Amino acid sequence: MFVYEWQAGPMTMSTKHMSLSERVEELLATGGPLPIVAAGDPVLRDVTEPYDGQLGDALLDRFVAALRETMHAAPGVGLAAPQVGIPLSIAVVEDRARGPEQVLQARGRIPLPFRVLVNPVYEPEGEDRAAFFEGCLSVPGWQAVTARHARVRLRGQDERGNAVDEVFTGWSARIVQHETDHLRGTLYLDVAELRSLSANEAVAERWSQPTAKTAAQALGFELP
Ligand code: ZN
Repeated sequence: MFVYEWQAGPMTMSTKHMSLSERVEELLATGGPLPIVAAGDPVLRDVTEPYDGQLGDALLDRFVAALRETMHAAPGVGLAAPQVGIPLSIAVVEDRARGPEQVLQARGRIPLPFRVLVNPVYEPEGEDRAAFFEGCLSVPGWQAVTARHARVRLRGQDERGNAVDEVFTGWSARIVQHETDHLRGTLYLDVAELRSLSANEAVAERWSQPTAKTAAQALGFELP
């Protein structure tokens, strides 16, 4: 067992008095990929504010570009605004779907072109669920098997305010569920099978099979 000893941390300046656009301006001023907030920061547990033009189009475009750059640098396939400390209902997703063909096929993983999700909500389409190892840039070093709806209908807007109403399946459905959950203060660990929790190294060494069946048997958990 490991218990972290108390240490005085650096005082963090409160940014609560600043408007969201001032906070985004300040964040972008540093340039380069943005620092990713790790689990334990309350911003990851708050319900985000619906986006309603708070940043204006020009700043929104710069913010979205920075989210995309940060997601690529991580590297990841999705990033939500709270993960860079901004409590707005905005996320970016993009999956180039690289990897062994057998694994891609088992996971229903096909390329998901870059897109911006603004005020997204999803609902399941049908009863099917799929369970695979999943990770989060805000919980670095770990992955856990997470059952997700195999098909979801996603509604919301894009970055220009155009209505979005689309059905996602397979790995793309998983990505949009994970990112939309972030905007409601939910982390994948809240819905994951905790007995499957594995360090990245363990996933790479032991659980790289196309499905989570072997891991379920060895670690003792049920798949849906
Ligand atoms: Zn995440």
